Amino acid sequence: MQRSVDAFLNHASVNEVVVALPQSVMANLPSYLAAAIDDPRHGGKPVKVVAGGERRQDSVRNAFAAVDRHTDIVLVHDAARPFVSSALVSRMIAATVESGAAVAAVAARDTVKQASSTAYVSATLPREHIYLAQTPQGFRRSVLADALALGANAGIDATDEATLAERAGYLVRIVDGETTNIKITTPDDMVLAEAIVRAGEARDLPRVGIGYDLHRLVEGRPLILGGVTIPFERGLAGHSDADALCHAVTDAVLGAAGAGDIGRHFPDTDARWKGASSIDLLRRAAEVLAERGLEVGNLDATVILERPKLAPLVDVMRQNVADAVGISIERVSIKGKTNEGVAELGRGEAIAVHAIAMVRAISH
Ligand code: MG
Repeated sequence: MQRSVDAFLNHASVNEVVVALPQSVMANLPSYLAAAIDDPRHGGKPVKVVAGGERRQDSVRNAFAAVDRHTDIVLVHDAARPFVSSALVSRMIAATVESGAAVAAVAARDTVKQASSTAYVSATLPREHIYLAQTPQGFRRSVLADALALGANAGIDATDEATLAERAGYLVRIVDGETTNIKITTPDDMVLAEAIVRAGEARDLPRVGIGYDLHRLVEGRPLILGGVTIPFERGLAGHSDADALCHAVTDAVLGAAGAGDIGRHFPDTDARWKGASSIDLLRRAAEVLAERGLEVGNLDATVILERPKLAPLVDVMRQNVADAVGISIERVSIKGKTNEGVAELGRGEAIAVHAIAMVRAISH
């Protein structure tokens, strides 16, 4: 139930949540619900609890009575459907605003047979017209009031509110539901639910990538690192600006996304990238991530060079890199390191960079 409540509380367009509970639970509220009733975490959104009724529609009527009187759109949801997505809640709100009444539903994928009372097939229904109703179901305040009044006055015992709205003469719009928006009622459902939770966790796990680059230091070239031109008597050899720091970070970012490397996205032979600064390539790599639903969490890089000293310019480089990937400077770390005079790097023949990137699913 907590997941179901949170799905609505965390949605930007939801103003309040009213939970209808069995009397026994009312007397002994679950701790998360007691906390949510007065919790600034949700931006001060009210959470109310009311006693449920005998039938589903009685519980909905009690909850509806507690809804803020200025609220015009009301969504009704089964607490037994904990996997409702934020996108589905958005679709329901939009359809309800347009149509006055809407139901989340998925198209039947199996052939549908109607059975006679003696358990033989009496008819095969055309599947293309069959939808299986889920929740949320959405209503304008006046529509839900009419539907519930009809249920009470005409003694109709409906399994959902959309049925009452239909019977009250309203057109109910079908909104694409989600196959993962299952209703958990049996032990088999729990097995499926655990699989859905595991899949969600795997999707949300942070991913890391590593990058490395090395360029020779030569006469007659500018020294550019992290988009900063550093005053020095030599510079890095290579295509474009030879910004080894940006190249290593770009590879780390692409690597974390499983999106190949800098050579694949920005080949030397492609005129589009000729003359592009390496900061621009890094910016484009961040766009590749966004297209995959990912964003950079943080970056760390080590630049190995004997001279010059990087420290005075490190914060400018961090800001450039942070701006290119669209994160704040405190998520970017860059440090210089000497090679203690050992080997080619120690003799100042080249500069090498190691970088690591953490990326994660874009949080909505
Ligand atoms: Mg390079």
